[in-house]
This record gives sequence, structure tokens and C-alpha cells, in this order.
Amino acid sequence: EVSIKGLHKAFGDVQILKGIELNIADGEFVSLVGPSGCGKSTLLRIIAGLEEESEGSISINNEPVSGIRASDRNLSMVFQSYALYPHLSVAENIAVPLQMRNLNGWQRLPLVGRFMSGAKARTQEITAAVMEAAQTLEIEALLKRKPGELSGGQRQRVALGRALVRKPAAFLLDEPLSNLDAKLRVHTRTEIAELHRKLGATFIYVTHDQVEAMTMSDRIAVMMGGEILQCAPPQIVYSDPNDLRVAEFIGSPK
Ligand code: ATP
Ligand code: MG
Repeated sequence: EVSIKGLHKAFGDVQILKGIELNIADGEFVSLVGPSGCGKSTLLRIIAGLEEESEGSISINNEPVSGIRASDRNLSMVFQSYALYPHLSVAENIAVPLQMRNLNGWQRLPLVGRFMSGAKARTQEITAAVMEAAQTLEIEALLKRKPGELSGGQRQRVALGRALVRKPAAFLLDEPLSNLDAKLRVHTRTEIAELHRKLGATFIYVTHDQVEAMTMSDRIAVMMGGEILQCAPPQIVYSDPNDLRVAEFIGSPK
């Protein structure tokens, strides 16, 4: 469960998030939509721990995450740009979150390939986890390549693989399909929906695409001016918008 209470964020004097309230149940798929600049990415980055809130609190499974660093939060973020390391292979890219993680007193390890002595069991564990993620996304054949040798769609899968490898309670996806062409977008959309069903994890999914939001989500959160105006199942947001701005944004019948 992801629970957001009274979340505010200011950059300098500019208030970007103005009291976000949002509760997301375990396994729920919630899309976050709203005009460009309304604060969707900022909200996701704060949940992920990549940005600090100005006020308010976030709990994951009833544990406040304030002050817990991104790599130790039980969630994974997928960026629009994929944010892969160009000098690392696909396998190494997927392994990165496992190496950053500070679990069971494990040391922070250098990147794959240069393990500290005595870390053999850990190496095998990481290799197995990378393989499992690669199999789920059907990218086993690409593991030795560098991101520069992949298509956009393949890079996208690697980014998903890197998110998957931690087996997080929640996935945060910031317009993960926006760099793909229309056909691949539809295909990948279906795959993400399948992944969600298969994993049963919580998904928070930022998109500009109304069709994506309508077809994939349990609920759609409509964000505007730093607030969530409505968060409801797609058909409710469409047929019973609680605010004229929601109706206009969604394009509901008048
Ligand atoms: P888009 O749909 O275009 O991706 P968004 O809803 O994701 O937009 P954000 O990226 O969250 O919007 O940005 C919200 C506002 O905060 C914008 O006005 C942006 O310029 C501002 N902003 C974001 N990050 C920073 C920062 N680090 N410093 C100052 N202002 C920022
Ligand atoms: Mg954004």
C-alpha cells in the first residue's frame, strides 16, 4: 500500500505540489494523468526518493519512507528516457539496483564484473535474478549487448528488467512508452498490463495517452495545478467527472 498525505513540494518560491492525498492499494494499477508541468514526474520522483518533499508524508506498507534513500525503498522507477548506463552491458544494467541495495549488511559493491572477494554467493544470486528478469521480458539473447546496440523497444524492456530485478512492492513508471512508435506502444502496453497481472505488484503509471490510462488502470488520478482533482475508476472519471477541469481534460461528454 502506498499512502500519500498532505504532500507539498516547492522549488524555490514556486509551489508545485499543493497537498496531494492519494492511497493506492496493494496490487492496484493507478494512472496519473494531467497537463504538462502539473507535477506528475515530481510526484513520482518524491515517492521514489529521488526528490525530497517540502511537507507531508509517504508510507509504503504502513512504513513512513521519509529519509529512506531511493535504493532502499521497496519500489522501482522506470524513466521515459530509460536512463541506462551506456558503458554497461544489458546484464550489468539490470543488475545495478541489486548492487546498490544495502540489504543484510551487504557492502555496496562496485559494478558487475569487479566483485570483492568472498562475494561469490552474492554474484551467483545476482546472476540468477538478472536471468529471471530477462526471461520474464524475453531479452535473454540481449544480455551481453550494450544499450547503444539496442532498438528503442529493446531498451525499454531492459529498463523494465532493471525495475523488475528488485521484485519491488511497487513500480513507478513515468511515461515509459512515449519514445516508442504507435505499434510498439500498443504491444508494450499489453505487456505491461500482463506484467502487472502476473506480478500482482502496485503500479503507478504516468501517461499522456488517454487510451493507455483508460484501458490499463484500476483507477485514474487526474492531476492539475499541483492537486489531484479526482481519483476514480476510468468509467467514473469519464462519465461522472467531479470537476469541470476533469471533464475538459478527459474529454467527457458535456
Ligand atoms: P510533463 O507532462 O511535461 O512531463 P509533469 O507533470 O511531469 O510534466 P514535472 O516535471 O513534475 O511536470 O514539473 C512540474 C513543474 O515543476 C514544472 O513547472 C517544472 O518546470 C518544475 N520543476 C520540476 N523539477 C524542477 C526543479 N528541479 N527545479 C525547479 N523547478 C522544477
Ligand atoms: Mg513528466
